[in-house]
Formats: sequence, C-alpha cells, structure tokens
Amino acid sequence: MADKPHTHMHPATIAAQGMGWIDEVTRAVAPPIHVSSTFERDPDNQYRSGRNYIRSDNPSFDQPEAVLAALEKGAAAMLFSSGMAAATCVFQGLAPSDHVIAPKVMYWSLRNWLLNFATRWGLAVDIVDMTDLEAVKRAVRPGKTKLIWTETPGNPLWDVTDLAAVAAISHAAGARLAVDSTAATPVLSRPLELGADIVMHSATKYLNGHSDLVAGALVTRADDEFWQRLKLIRLQGGGVLGSFEAWLLLRGMRTLFPRVKTACAGAQKIAEALRRDPNVSHVFYPGLREFPGHAVAAKQMQGGFGGMLSIRVKGGEQAAIKTAANVRIWKRATSLGGVESLMEHRASVEGADSPCPPDLLRLSVGIEEPDDLIEDLKSALVATA
Ligand SMILES: *Cc1c(COP(=O)(O)O)cnc(C)c1O
Repeated sequence: MADKPHTHMHPATIAAQGMGWIDEVTRAVAPPIHVSSTFERDPDNQYRSGRNYIRSDNPSFDQPEAVLAALEKGAAAMLFSSGMAAATCVFQGLAPSDHVIAPKVMYWSLRNWLLNFATRWGLAVDIVDMTDLEAVKRAVRPGKTKLIWTETPGNPLWDVTDLAAVAAISHAAGARLAVDSTAATPVLSRPLELGADIVMHSATKYLNGHSDLVAGALVTRADDEFWQRLKLIRLQGGGVLGSFEAWLLLRGMRTLFPRVKTACAGAQKIAEALRRDPNVSHVFYPGLREFPGHAVAAKQMQGGFGGMLSIRVKGGEQAAIKTAANVRIWKRATSLGGVESLMEHRASVEGADSPCPPDLLRLSVGIEEPDDLIEDLKSALVATA
C-alpha cells in the first residue's frame, strides 16, 4: 500500500479517502478483501511478508486500523470481533488484585461483565459517579488502582466525563485512563489529546454506521509494553474481526464525518423540540444548555454533541413502552449509531444495578429529515398520553 503523507490532511479527508491508499498491485481505489487464513514461508524458512497466520496478521486490518489511529491521533489501533471483545481485552491486560474504577453510567453489558466476571478473576472494581471528581479521587487506592475506565457521553443518561481532569487523577495515581468513545466518535472528541491512554469503540455503531456488522476497536497513545500485552491477548484469545467485516468497516468509516454531523444536527433539533413537549418530563442531551454536562461537553467536543439522547415520558414506564409501540418511522431496536433512527426502552434491557429510570426511552438519531422524526415521536407521545 502506498502510504501517502497524511499529516496535514484534515481528519474528514483522511476518513473519506481511507488514508488515500491505492492497491499497489492493481491500482484499485477500493481495497481488495484478503481472505487467506495463511501465508507462504520463504524457502529459507523466513516470513519476509511479515504475515504468517490470519489470527495474528490480517492484511484486511491494515487500512481500517491506520484510518482509526490517524483519526484518534494515536500510535496504533487494533480491530476486534466486537466492542465487548475490545473492552474486555483492556481489563485482561491487568493483573489479579489490580483495582479499577468505572463509571456509574456506562454500557450495561460491560458493567455487568466487570461486576460479575472480572471480579471473579481477581480484579477489584469500584463504580463511581465519574462526573464527581472528588468521588473519583476518593475511590483511588494508592499503588493498587491501575486503570480508570470511563465512557463519555455515557449510556444511557449521557453523563459527560471531564477527560482532562480524570486523566490527571489517573496519572497522579500511576493508573491508565481508558475511554469508551463510542457515542462521541473521533469526529467530535479525541480523548488521547485530552490525556487518555487508550480509546475504545464499539465499531458496530457510528464507525461502521449501517447496522450491518459487529466490530470493536482500541487505539493507543503509545505503542508501549501494555499495548504489546493487549496485542498478545487478541492474538492468543482470537477475538479478531473477519476480513469481510473489516472491509465493510473501512467502507463505513469513509462516510463517518457527514453521517455524524448530520446525526448531531438532528439530535440537537429533536432535543430542543422535546424539551418543550408536555408529555416529556426530562431530556438528556449534552447539547442542551441546561444539561449538567453541557459545559464540559462544549469544552471537549467539537462540532456537535452526538446523535444520542434520552427522554423520560411523563406518563411513566407503561407510557414509555406504549410510545415506542406507537412510532412509525423510528425503529424499536437496540443498538445505535446507524443511519436509521432507533428507539429503545432501556430499563427492559439494563437490569437491576442500572441507574436508568423505568420511564426512559433512548433515542439514536440517524440521518433522516429531523422534522419527520419529531412529528412521528410527538404523535406517538400524544397517542399515549
Ligand atoms: C454497543 C456498545 C458497546 C459494546 O459493543 P459491541 O460491538 O456490541 O460488542 C460498548 N460500549 C458502548 C458505548 C456501546 O454502545
């Protein structure tokens, strides 16, 4: 692959051109999909191609990993078979009895894994309100805390973590900061520039953007000993992405910027329309001036506040479930970050230890005309009330 200099290209250009790489053999602008599981040795027993087996080196990963590392301004990136495979890899890089701090508002399945699996394997886990910096400082166990994990904006209440402040707390404690930046995307936020050590994405969501694959990614600030350990965990554990999925993901990332910008504009408009709706008691969206995390979000996000918001329906849990039943354009489905708008009653999913109120609907805003989405949702709310 011809790696053209990209240092002065804007991130949107890097994404649109997928680094601008051209296939050297065929001059193809869209890359080939490599499906070979194995690579031939040289006659003298060497592997000068640098590849031997697809679990360790998949040529279909090179371009999407390079794009992601460039967008996050990291030293390297790794693709995984899912966001959960990427996230759990970071915790597997720790040692038994290490202490980690995670946020109260976070992706429910990872919280569940931390509390019910990671603890059984010897990690000490504290869940704190990550928006309360004093609480984060109090949770640090000197010499023991090795990782602070956060998610911003955090599912499904969209709590905003002050990344620069939490990075300072982490580093003072000798711990790493890892950030689930799935909802923010590299379009809006670059955690590594704010002091984070690792960024994680569920690439199933915005990075791919079309609700047609499952993938995860990690990006590191430094190609250090911890990163090498994570690479070994992926190689040995085998949580690698398939070649076709890697190709689809690269294709999806080429339109990341216009998709995310359109979703942000739509979400902002919808949030503003719903905050005045008589059937809605709360709107959770970092782009609203009255939202508690707004000032921090305005400081560390550029170009918008994301495509995710949540609302609480005045009539309570049953009214929320009925509202989701009454929409016609929004789709009742889990997940987020696709081009089509999705709505989900989160308490049905999250389980007992979730901070999610029972009357909450989570909205993933796609790239449709926002007025259609507003009208659909408002009539569903009226039909329910
Ligand atoms: C979906 C999601 C995950 C998990 O990713 P998968 O690709 O589904 O494994 C983690 N964090 C956030 C914020 C998510 O939305």
